[in-house]
Amino acid sequence: MTKKQQRAAELYKALITQYPDAHCALHYNNPFELLVATILSAQATDVGVNKATPALFKKHPTPQSMASVTTEELEPLISTIGLFRNKAKSIHASATMIENDFGGVVPANMKDLLKLRGVARKTANVVLGNAFGKNEGVVVDTHVGRLAGRFGLTKETKPEKIEKDLMKLFPQDDWTMLSHLLVRHGREVCKKRGALCDSSEICQAFCSNVS
Ligand code: SF4
Repeated sequence: MTKKQQRAAELYKALITQYPDAHCALHYNNPFELLVATILSAQATDVGVNKATPALFKKHPTPQSMASVTTEELEPLISTIGLFRNKAKSIHASATMIENDFGGVVPANMKDLLKLRGVARKTANVVLGNAFGKNEGVVVDTHVGRLAGRFGLTKETKPEKIEKDLMKLFPQDDWTMLSHLLVRHGREVCKKRGALCDSSEICQAFCSNVS
């Protein structure tokens, strides 16, 4: 184990001790619901998505159902979420491909998930890690990107490069939880505006902002 990996292991231990119940904040009952919720969550809050999805999933609980209507019929169900017109197109196209090409079942592998409209590595990692229990990568959202830099885990700024650095530093089994932990710390302590730098022992021990 390198010195950087040793430090990463210590950070992980501190974070999981602080946030033992960290988990995906999106509400879902199956891989299809998580896939749709994650597509909807781009540049939107999880809270806002969670408010909209119960009615959406009640009306269209399966890929078959969602594919059977037009995007215009989906729009009113998600109109409270930013970029809803484009997202309606993405969830409709994804549902249609799942129905036509994957037998109505959300694929459980990165290659096929990336074929779905509106799905890049981040969304695929969310679905694989949380709905299928597969650690194929690290979800890098705005919190993870910010915290990875501040904790000195990467010097990169592009999500794909940050993800690669994190994958080198942390054991594969920890990748999904690592993202939940960093998101939680980002939401509770290292807020975008008004970071509570003095309030956390983890910050004192690991953040490069603390001298
Ligand atoms: S010390 Fe401040 S900037 Fe650093 S991780 Fe903590 S809250 Fe964020």
